[in-house]
Amino acid sequence: MQPIASLARSLHSGAIAPDDILREAALALAVADSGPDPIHPFIQSNLTERSFIRATGALAGIPIAVKDNIATVDFPTTCGSRILEGYTSPFDATAVKRLRAAGAVIVGKTNLDEFGMGSSTEYSVFGVTRNPHDRSRVPGGSSGGSAAAVAAGIVPAALGSETGGSVRQPAAFCGVVGLRPTYGRVSRSGLIAFASSLDQVGVLARTVADAALVQSVVAGHDQRDSTSSRRQLPEFDGDGDLDGTVIGVPGEYFPDHLDPGVRSLCRAALRRMEACGATIREVSLPHTRLAITAYHVIAGAEASSNLARFDGVRYGASAIDPPTPGDLYELTRARFGPEVKRRILLGTHLLSHGHGSAHYQRAQKARALVSLDFDYVFASGVDAIFTPTTPAPAFRIGEHIGDPASMYGSDEFTVPASLAGVPALSLPIGFRDGLPVGGQLICGRWEEARLMRIAAGLETALL
Ligand code: GLN
Repeated sequence: MQPIASLARSLHSGAIAPDDILREAALALAVADSGPDPIHPFIQSNLTERSFIRATGALAGIPIAVKDNIATVDFPTTCGSRILEGYTSPFDATAVKRLRAAGAVIVGKTNLDEFGMGSSTEYSVFGVTRNPHDRSRVPGGSSGGSAAAVAAGIVPAALGSETGGSVRQPAAFCGVVGLRPTYGRVSRSGLIAFASSLDQVGVLARTVADAALVQSVVAGHDQRDSTSSRRQLPEFDGDGDLDGTVIGVPGEYFPDHLDPGVRSLCRAALRRMEACGATIREVSLPHTRLAITAYHVIAGAEASSNLARFDGVRYGASAIDPPTPGDLYELTRARFGPEVKRRILLGTHLLSHGHGSAHYQRAQKARALVSLDFDYVFASGVDAIFTPTTPAPAFRIGEHIGDPASMYGSDEFTVPASLAGVPALSLPIGFRDGLPVGGQLICGRWEEARLMRIAAGLETALL
Protein backbone atom coordinates (compact mmCIF):
# COMPACT_ATOMS: atom_id res chain seq x y z
CA MET A 1 0.00 0.00 0.00
CA GLN A 2 1.44 3.37 -1.03
CA PRO A 3 1.55 6.40 1.25
CA ILE A 4 -1.59 8.53 1.40
CA ALA A 5 -0.14 11.37 -0.69
CA SER A 6 0.52 9.12 -3.68
CA LEU A 7 -2.79 7.25 -3.30
CA ALA A 8 -4.57 10.60 -3.25
CA ARG A 9 -2.74 11.71 -6.40
CA SER A 10 -3.66 8.50 -8.22
CA LEU A 11 -7.28 8.80 -7.13
CA HIS A 12 -7.40 12.42 -8.20
CA SER A 13 -5.98 11.72 -11.65
CA GLY A 14 -8.37 8.80 -12.10
CA ALA A 15 -5.48 6.32 -12.46
CA ILE A 16 -7.15 4.25 -9.73
CA ALA A 17 -10.60 4.09 -8.15
CA PRO A 18 -11.37 3.76 -4.41
CA ASP A 19 -12.46 0.15 -5.01
CA ASP A 20 -9.00 -0.68 -6.39
CA ILE A 21 -7.47 0.43 -3.10
CA LEU A 22 -9.92 -1.72 -1.13
CA ARG A 23 -9.15 -4.71 -3.35
CA GLU A 24 -5.44 -4.23 -2.72
CA ALA A 25 -6.13 -3.97 1.02
CA ALA A 26 -8.21 -7.17 0.96
CA LEU A 27 -5.44 -8.99 -0.87
CA ALA A 28 -2.83 -7.79 1.63
CA LEU A 29 -5.06 -8.94 4.51
CA ALA A 30 -5.54 -12.37 2.89
CA VAL A 31 -1.76 -12.75 2.62
CA ALA A 32 -1.27 -11.54 6.21
CA ASP A 33 -3.82 -13.98 7.58
CA SER A 34 -2.66 -16.98 5.53
CA GLY A 35 -0.53 -19.86 6.78
CA PRO A 36 -0.23 -21.52 10.17
CA ASP A 37 0.77 -18.27 11.94
CA PRO A 38 -1.66 -15.57 10.80
CA ILE A 39 -0.73 -11.97 11.61
CA HIS A 40 -4.34 -11.33 12.70
CA PRO A 41 -4.32 -7.54 12.83
CA PHE A 42 -8.11 -7.14 12.96
CA ILE A 43 -10.84 -8.15 15.38
CA GLN A 44 -13.44 -7.10 12.77
CA SER A 45 -12.94 -5.85 9.24
CA ASN A 46 -14.92 -5.00 6.15
CA LEU A 47 -12.85 -4.63 3.01
CA THR A 48 -15.67 -5.23 0.58
CA GLU A 49 -16.30 -2.70 -2.13
CA ARG A 50 -18.56 0.16 -1.16
CA SER A 51 -20.53 2.81 -2.88
CA PHE A 52 -18.49 5.94 -2.49
CA ILE A 53 -20.68 8.93 -1.93
CA ARG A 54 -18.00 11.32 -0.76
CA ALA A 55 -15.25 11.95 -3.24
CA THR A 56 -13.85 15.04 -1.53
CA GLY A 57 -11.84 15.67 1.62
CA ALA A 58 -8.21 15.29 2.67
CA LEU A 59 -8.62 11.51 3.03
CA ALA A 60 -11.20 10.82 0.30
CA GLY A 61 -11.26 7.11 -0.46
CA ILE A 62 -8.33 6.30 1.86
CA PRO A 63 -8.77 3.15 3.97
CA ILE A 64 -7.98 3.65 7.66
CA ALA A 65 -8.02 1.06 10.46
CA VAL A 66 -9.11 1.97 13.99
CA LYS A 67 -8.00 0.42 17.27
CA ASP A 68 -10.84 -1.45 18.92
CA ASN A 69 -11.02 0.77 22.01
CA ILE A 70 -12.21 3.68 19.84
CA ALA A 71 -15.98 3.78 19.31
CA THR A 72 -17.50 3.21 15.87
CA VAL A 73 -21.17 2.82 14.97
CA ASP A 74 -20.59 0.31 12.18
CA PHE A 75 -18.37 -2.20 14.01
CA PRO A 76 -18.57 -3.54 17.57
CA THR A 77 -16.11 -1.96 20.02
CA THR A 78 -14.73 -4.70 22.26
CA CYS A 79 -11.50 -3.34 23.79
CA GLY A 80 -10.20 -6.89 23.24
CA SER A 81 -12.29 -7.90 26.25
CA ARG A 82 -15.00 -10.46 26.98
CA ILE A 83 -16.72 -7.84 29.08
CA LEU A 84 -17.61 -5.81 25.97
CA GLU A 85 -18.47 -8.82 23.82
CA GLY A 86 -21.30 -7.86 21.47
CA TYR A 87 -21.17 -4.15 22.37
CA THR A 88 -21.68 -1.64 19.59
CA SER A 89 -21.43 2.06 20.41
CA PRO A 90 -24.41 4.27 19.53
CA PHE A 91 -21.97 7.01 18.45
CA ASP A 92 -18.64 7.44 16.66
CA ALA A 93 -15.62 8.69 18.59
CA THR A 94 -14.84 12.29 17.64
CA ALA A 95 -11.59 11.18 15.95
CA VAL A 96 -13.57 8.69 13.84
CA LYS A 97 -16.24 11.26 12.99
CA ARG A 98 -13.51 13.59 11.72
CA LEU A 99 -11.89 10.83 9.65
CA ARG A 100 -15.23 10.06 8.01
CA ALA A 101 -15.90 13.75 7.40
CA ALA A 102 -12.55 13.91 5.57
CA GLY A 103 -13.69 11.05 3.33
CA ALA A 104 -11.72 8.19 4.94
CA VAL A 105 -13.10 4.65 4.75
CA ILE A 106 -13.01 2.89 8.14
CA VAL A 107 -12.15 -0.67 7.15
CA GLY A 108 -11.93 -2.40 10.51
CA LYS A 109 -11.16 -2.53 14.19
CA THR A 110 -7.69 -3.64 15.18
CA ASN A 111 -6.56 -6.01 17.88
CA LEU A 112 -5.16 -4.71 21.18
CA ASP A 113 -4.20 -5.72 24.67
CA GLU A 114 -7.40 -5.76 26.73
CA PHE A 115 -8.37 -2.12 27.46
CA GLY A 116 -4.94 -1.03 26.20
CA MET A 117 -3.16 -2.67 29.12
CA GLY A 118 -0.07 -4.36 27.79
CA SER A 119 2.93 -4.08 25.51
CA SER A 120 2.55 -7.08 23.21
CA THR A 121 -1.11 -7.54 22.12
CA GLU A 122 -0.95 -10.94 23.82
CA TYR A 123 -3.56 -9.84 26.37
CA SER A 124 -6.44 -9.80 23.88
CA VAL A 125 -9.22 -12.38 24.27
CA PHE A 126 -9.27 -12.58 20.48
CA GLY A 127 -5.80 -14.15 20.27
CA VAL A 128 -2.38 -12.71 19.56
CA THR A 129 -1.38 -10.47 16.68
CA ARG A 130 1.95 -11.42 15.09
CA ASN A 131 4.76 -9.17 13.95
CA PRO A 132 4.74 -8.93 10.11
CA HIS A 133 8.57 -8.92 10.12
CA ASP A 134 8.80 -12.15 12.12
CA ARG A 135 5.67 -14.09 12.92
CA SER A 136 7.22 -15.71 16.00
CA ARG A 137 7.43 -12.27 17.61
CA VAL A 138 4.96 -9.78 19.08
CA PRO A 139 4.00 -6.61 17.21
CA GLY A 140 4.24 -4.64 20.44
CA GLY A 141 1.23 -3.16 22.14
CA SER A 142 -1.22 -2.23 23.03
CA SER A 143 -1.89 -0.85 19.51
CA GLY A 144 -0.26 -3.98 18.00
CA GLY A 145 -3.10 -4.63 15.55
CA SER A 146 -2.92 -1.09 14.14
CA ALA A 147 0.88 -1.26 13.78
CA ALA A 148 0.69 -4.69 12.11
CA ALA A 149 -2.08 -3.56 9.72
CA VAL A 150 0.11 -0.67 8.52
CA ALA A 151 3.32 -2.74 8.40
CA ALA A 152 1.57 -5.53 6.45
CA GLY A 153 0.49 -3.00 3.81
CA ILE A 154 -3.25 -3.38 4.45
CA VAL A 155 -3.85 0.29 5.25
CA PRO A 156 -1.61 3.34 4.85
CA ALA A 157 -2.55 4.59 8.33
CA ALA A 158 -4.41 3.57 11.47
CA LEU A 159 -5.59 5.13 14.70
CA GLY A 160 -4.10 3.81 17.90
CA SER A 161 -4.26 4.99 21.48
CA GLU A 162 -1.52 5.90 23.88
CA THR A 163 -1.45 5.86 27.63
CA GLY A 164 2.20 5.02 28.23
CA GLY A 165 3.62 4.25 24.80
CA SER A 166 1.04 2.06 23.06
CA VAL A 167 1.50 3.78 19.70
CA ARG A 168 5.26 4.43 19.72
CA GLN A 169 6.35 1.01 21.03
CA PRO A 170 4.39 -1.09 18.47
CA ALA A 171 5.42 1.38 15.74
CA ALA A 172 9.07 0.69 16.65
CA PHE A 173 8.54 -3.10 16.75
CA CYS A 174 6.76 -3.12 13.36
CA GLY A 175 8.95 -0.60 11.50
CA VAL A 176 6.36 2.14 11.03
CA VAL A 177 5.88 5.73 12.23
CA GLY A 178 3.90 6.24 15.46
CA LEU A 179 2.83 9.63 16.80
CA ARG A 180 1.63 10.53 20.28
CA PRO A 181 0.31 14.10 20.27
CA THR A 182 0.44 16.57 23.15
CA TYR A 183 -2.09 15.64 25.84
CA GLY A 184 -5.23 17.59 24.94
CA ARG A 185 -4.50 17.87 21.22
CA VAL A 186 -7.05 15.20 20.20
CA SER A 187 -10.48 14.67 21.71
CA ARG A 188 -10.84 11.59 23.92
CA SER A 189 -14.60 11.44 23.30
CA GLY A 190 -15.30 7.85 22.28
CA LEU A 191 -11.86 6.59 23.27
CA ILE A 192 -12.71 4.10 26.00
CA ALA A 193 -10.92 5.29 29.11
CA PHE A 194 -7.95 3.49 30.63
CA ALA A 195 -6.15 6.30 32.52
CA SER A 196 -7.80 9.61 31.65
CA SER A 197 -4.91 11.92 32.57
CA LEU A 198 -2.63 10.02 30.16
CA ASP A 199 -4.87 8.69 27.36
CA GLN A 200 -4.56 10.21 23.85
CA VAL A 201 -5.54 9.05 20.36
CA GLY A 202 -2.41 8.57 18.24
CA VAL A 203 -1.61 7.73 14.62
CA LEU A 204 0.38 4.93 12.98
CA ALA A 205 1.46 5.39 9.37
CA ARG A 206 4.22 4.53 6.91
CA THR A 207 5.64 8.04 6.66
CA VAL A 208 5.94 11.11 8.86
CA ALA A 209 3.92 13.14 6.33
CA ASP A 210 1.04 10.63 6.46
CA ALA A 211 1.05 10.59 10.26
CA ALA A 212 0.98 14.41 10.21
CA LEU A 213 -1.90 14.47 7.71
CA VAL A 214 -4.10 12.04 9.69
CA GLN A 215 -3.21 13.85 12.90
CA SER A 216 -4.27 17.20 11.40
CA VAL A 217 -7.66 15.67 10.51
CA VAL A 218 -8.43 14.23 13.95
CA ALA A 219 -6.92 17.01 16.12
CA GLY A 220 -8.59 20.09 17.54
CA HIS A 221 -11.03 21.24 20.17
CA ASP A 222 -14.16 19.21 20.82
CA GLN A 223 -16.90 20.29 23.17
CA ARG A 224 -17.36 16.65 24.21
CA ASP A 225 -13.92 16.60 25.86
CA SER A 226 -13.19 19.43 28.29
CA THR A 227 -9.47 18.53 28.25
CA SER A 228 -9.21 19.04 24.48
CA SER A 229 -7.36 22.24 23.65
CA ARG A 230 -8.59 25.29 21.77
CA ARG A 231 -5.07 26.03 20.56
CA GLN A 232 -4.44 26.64 16.92
CA LEU A 233 -3.56 23.48 15.00
CA PRO A 234 0.08 23.42 13.96
CA GLU A 235 0.92 24.07 10.33
CA PHE A 236 3.16 21.43 8.83
CA ASP A 237 3.85 21.57 5.10
CA GLY A 238 5.42 18.10 4.92
CA ASP A 239 8.99 19.31 4.46
CA GLY A 240 11.69 18.08 6.77
CA ASP A 241 14.53 20.28 8.01
CA LEU A 242 17.31 19.60 10.49
CA ASP A 243 19.55 22.53 9.64
CA GLY A 244 20.23 24.69 12.69
CA THR A 245 18.27 22.48 15.10
CA VAL A 246 19.59 21.44 18.50
CA ILE A 247 19.01 17.78 19.32
CA GLY A 248 19.32 16.73 22.97
CA VAL A 249 20.54 13.24 23.79
CA PRO A 250 19.79 12.13 27.37
CA GLY A 251 22.29 9.69 28.88
CA GLU A 252 19.48 8.11 30.94
CA TYR A 253 18.04 6.63 27.72
CA PHE A 254 21.27 4.84 26.83
CA PRO A 255 21.66 2.52 29.85
CA ASP A 256 23.98 -0.48 30.03
CA HIS A 257 21.15 -2.91 29.26
CA LEU A 258 20.36 -1.16 25.94
CA ASP A 259 20.59 -3.65 23.07
CA PRO A 260 23.95 -3.04 21.30
CA GLY A 261 22.32 -3.10 17.85
CA VAL A 262 19.80 -0.47 18.94
CA ARG A 263 22.60 1.65 20.40
CA SER A 264 24.65 1.62 17.20
CA LEU A 265 21.61 2.44 15.02
CA CYS A 266 20.86 5.41 17.30
CA ARG A 267 24.45 6.59 16.98
CA ALA A 268 24.23 6.30 13.20
CA ALA A 269 20.97 8.28 13.17
CA LEU A 270 22.58 11.03 15.27
CA ARG A 271 25.53 11.21 12.85
CA ARG A 272 23.08 11.63 9.95
CA MET A 273 21.32 14.43 11.77
CA GLU A 274 24.64 16.14 12.40
CA ALA A 275 25.53 15.81 8.72
CA CYS A 276 22.24 17.62 7.94
CA GLY A 277 23.18 20.60 10.08
CA ALA A 278 21.86 19.61 13.51
CA THR A 279 23.86 20.21 16.67
CA ILE A 280 23.90 17.23 19.04
CA ARG A 281 23.95 18.16 22.71
CA GLU A 282 24.15 15.87 25.74
CA VAL A 283 21.29 16.55 28.15
CA SER A 284 20.00 14.99 31.35
CA LEU A 285 16.51 13.86 32.36
CA PRO A 286 17.49 12.77 35.87
CA HIS A 287 14.08 11.57 37.09
CA THR A 288 13.58 9.10 34.23
CA ARG A 289 14.19 6.18 36.61
CA LEU A 290 11.03 7.10 38.57
CA ALA A 291 8.80 7.09 35.51
CA ILE A 292 7.74 3.44 35.17
CA THR A 293 6.79 3.08 38.83
CA ALA A 294 4.97 6.41 38.97
CA TYR A 295 3.17 5.53 35.74
CA HIS A 296 1.89 2.20 37.03
CA VAL A 297 0.64 3.76 40.27
CA ILE A 298 -1.19 6.58 38.45
CA ALA A 299 -2.46 4.48 35.54
CA GLY A 300 -3.58 1.68 37.90
CA ALA A 301 -5.39 4.12 40.17
CA GLU A 302 -7.20 5.78 37.27
CA ALA A 303 -7.97 2.44 35.61
CA SER A 304 -9.56 1.02 38.76
CA SER A 305 -11.89 4.01 38.84
CA ASN A 306 -12.61 4.12 35.08
CA LEU A 307 -13.30 0.39 34.77
CA ALA A 308 -15.80 0.42 37.65
CA ARG A 309 -18.42 1.29 35.00
CA PHE A 310 -18.27 -2.26 33.61
CA ASP A 311 -20.69 -3.64 36.17
CA GLY A 312 -23.15 -5.68 34.12
CA VAL A 313 -25.76 -2.92 34.31
CA ARG A 314 -24.60 -0.31 31.84
CA TYR A 315 -22.38 -1.66 29.08
CA GLY A 316 -21.77 -4.92 27.28
CA ALA A 317 -21.93 -8.34 28.83
CA SER A 318 -23.96 -9.09 31.91
CA ALA A 319 -24.19 -12.23 34.06
CA ILE A 320 -27.40 -14.18 33.37
CA ASP A 321 -29.83 -14.51 36.30
CA PRO A 322 -27.48 -13.64 39.14
CA PRO A 323 -29.02 -14.53 42.52
CA THR A 324 -28.13 -11.13 44.07
CA PRO A 325 -26.85 -7.74 42.81
CA GLY A 326 -23.49 -8.60 44.38
CA ASP A 327 -23.37 -11.74 42.25
CA LEU A 328 -24.20 -9.66 39.17
CA TYR A 329 -21.07 -7.54 39.71
CA GLU A 330 -18.89 -10.45 40.66
CA LEU A 331 -19.90 -12.77 37.83
CA THR A 332 -19.80 -9.99 35.22
CA ARG A 333 -16.45 -8.59 36.32
CA ALA A 334 -14.94 -12.08 36.42
CA ARG A 335 -14.85 -11.69 32.64
CA PHE A 336 -11.91 -9.28 32.83
CA GLY A 337 -8.64 -10.94 31.81
CA PRO A 338 -5.64 -11.39 34.12
CA GLU A 339 -3.74 -8.18 33.28
CA VAL A 340 -6.84 -5.98 33.67
CA LYS A 341 -7.64 -7.66 37.01
CA ARG A 342 -4.06 -7.10 38.14
CA ARG A 343 -4.31 -3.36 37.39
CA ILE A 344 -7.75 -2.96 38.98
CA LEU A 345 -6.56 -4.75 42.13
CA LEU A 346 -3.40 -2.67 42.29
CA GLY A 347 -5.26 0.58 41.68
CA THR A 348 -7.98 -0.22 44.21
CA HIS A 349 -5.36 -1.09 46.80
CA LEU A 350 -3.40 2.10 46.14
CA LEU A 351 -6.49 4.26 46.48
CA SER A 352 -7.85 2.51 49.57
CA HIS A 353 -7.99 4.24 52.93
CA GLY A 354 -4.57 5.00 54.37
CA HIS A 355 -2.59 4.37 51.19
CA GLY A 356 -3.38 7.54 49.28
CA SER A 357 -0.57 9.74 50.47
CA ALA A 358 1.96 6.93 50.63
CA HIS A 359 1.69 5.94 46.99
CA TYR A 360 -0.60 8.02 44.81
CA GLN A 361 0.61 11.42 46.05
CA ARG A 362 4.24 10.38 45.75
CA ALA A 363 3.63 9.14 42.24
CA GLN A 364 2.09 12.52 41.38
CA LYS A 365 5.20 14.25 42.75
CA ALA A 366 7.43 11.97 40.68
CA ARG A 367 5.28 12.78 37.63
CA ALA A 368 5.83 16.50 38.24
CA LEU A 369 9.61 15.95 38.47
CA VAL A 370 9.68 13.93 35.23
CA SER A 371 7.72 16.70 33.57
CA LEU A 372 10.03 19.44 34.90
CA ASP A 373 13.04 17.54 33.51
CA PHE A 374 11.59 18.02 30.02
CA ASP A 375 10.73 21.68 30.68
CA TYR A 376 14.32 22.44 31.74
CA VAL A 377 15.80 20.78 28.66
CA PHE A 378 13.46 22.55 26.23
CA ALA A 379 13.94 25.89 28.02
CA SER A 380 17.70 25.52 27.48
CA GLY A 381 17.33 25.81 23.72
CA VAL A 382 16.95 22.15 22.75
CA ASP A 383 14.50 21.71 19.87
CA ALA A 384 13.96 17.97 20.20
CA ILE A 385 15.21 15.07 22.29
CA PHE A 386 16.36 11.92 20.51
CA THR A 387 16.31 8.48 22.17
CA PRO A 388 15.76 4.84 21.27
CA THR A 389 12.01 4.06 21.40
CA THR A 390 12.53 0.71 23.13
CA PRO A 391 15.48 -0.96 24.88
CA ALA A 392 15.44 -3.85 22.35
CA PRO A 393 13.59 -4.91 19.17
CA ALA A 394 10.40 -7.04 19.22
CA PHE A 395 10.50 -9.93 21.67
CA ARG A 396 9.19 -13.45 21.14
CA ILE A 397 5.56 -14.34 21.72
CA GLY A 398 5.30 -15.70 25.28
CA GLU A 399 8.67 -14.28 26.37
CA HIS A 400 7.28 -11.90 29.00
CA ILE A 401 3.93 -13.53 29.79
CA GLY A 402 3.77 -14.35 33.51
CA ASP A 403 6.41 -11.72 34.34
CA PRO A 404 4.57 -8.38 34.37
CA ALA A 405 7.57 -6.37 35.61
CA SER A 406 9.73 -7.44 32.65
CA MET A 407 6.85 -6.65 30.26
CA TYR A 408 6.50 -3.17 31.81
CA GLY A 409 10.22 -2.64 31.20
CA SER A 410 9.74 -2.47 27.43
CA ASP A 411 7.97 0.90 27.99
CA GLU A 412 10.81 2.53 29.92
CA PHE A 413 11.64 5.05 27.18
CA THR A 414 8.06 5.88 26.15
CA VAL A 415 6.40 6.38 29.54
CA PRO A 416 8.24 9.61 30.57
CA ALA A 417 6.85 11.67 27.64
CA SER A 418 3.37 10.32 28.45
CA LEU A 419 3.65 11.42 32.07
CA ALA A 420 4.79 14.87 30.92
CA GLY A 421 2.05 15.12 28.26
CA VAL A 422 4.55 16.16 25.58
CA PRO A 423 4.34 15.08 21.92
CA ALA A 424 6.62 12.24 20.80
CA LEU A 425 7.10 10.20 17.68
CA SER A 426 8.81 6.92 16.82
CA LEU A 427 10.22 6.36 13.35
CA PRO A 428 12.15 3.47 11.82
CA ILE A 429 15.93 3.94 11.96
CA GLY A 430 17.08 0.58 10.63
CA PHE A 431 17.11 -3.15 11.30
CA ARG A 432 18.88 -5.33 13.85
CA ASP A 433 19.05 -8.98 12.67
CA GLY A 434 16.05 -8.44 10.41
CA LEU A 435 13.96 -6.76 13.12
CA PRO A 436 12.96 -3.09 12.84
CA VAL A 437 14.36 -0.59 15.34
CA GLY A 438 12.66 2.70 16.23
CA GLY A 439 14.16 6.05 17.18
CA GLN A 440 12.12 8.46 19.29
CA LEU A 441 11.89 12.23 18.97
CA ILE A 442 10.27 14.24 21.77
CA CYS A 443 9.38 17.96 21.64
CA GLY A 444 7.87 20.50 24.01
CA ARG A 445 4.11 20.79 24.56
CA TRP A 446 2.11 21.88 21.47
CA GLU A 447 5.27 21.72 19.31
CA GLU A 448 3.93 19.08 16.90
CA ALA A 449 4.89 21.14 13.85
CA ARG A 450 8.52 21.27 14.99
CA LEU A 451 8.39 17.55 15.85
CA MET A 452 7.15 16.69 12.36
CA ARG A 453 9.69 18.90 10.63
CA ILE A 454 12.59 17.33 12.52
CA ALA A 455 11.19 13.80 12.13
CA ALA A 456 10.68 14.28 8.39
CA GLY A 457 14.25 15.61 8.20
CA LEU A 458 15.59 12.48 9.90
CA GLU A 459 13.38 10.25 7.76
CA THR A 460 14.89 11.80 4.60
CA ALA A 461 18.41 11.68 6.03
CA LEU A 462 18.05 7.94 6.61
CA LEU A 463 16.82 7.12 3.09
N1 GLN B 1 2.28 -0.78 27.77
C1 GLN B 1 1.82 0.23 28.69
C2 GLN B 1 0.90 -0.39 29.70
O1 GLN B 1 0.83 -1.56 29.74
C3 GLN B 1 1.17 1.34 27.95
C4 GLN B 1 -0.17 0.99 27.48
C5 GLN B 1 -0.80 2.09 26.69
O2 GLN B 1 -0.13 3.06 26.32
N2 GLN B 1 -2.09 1.96 26.47
O3 GLN B 1 0.26 0.27 30.47
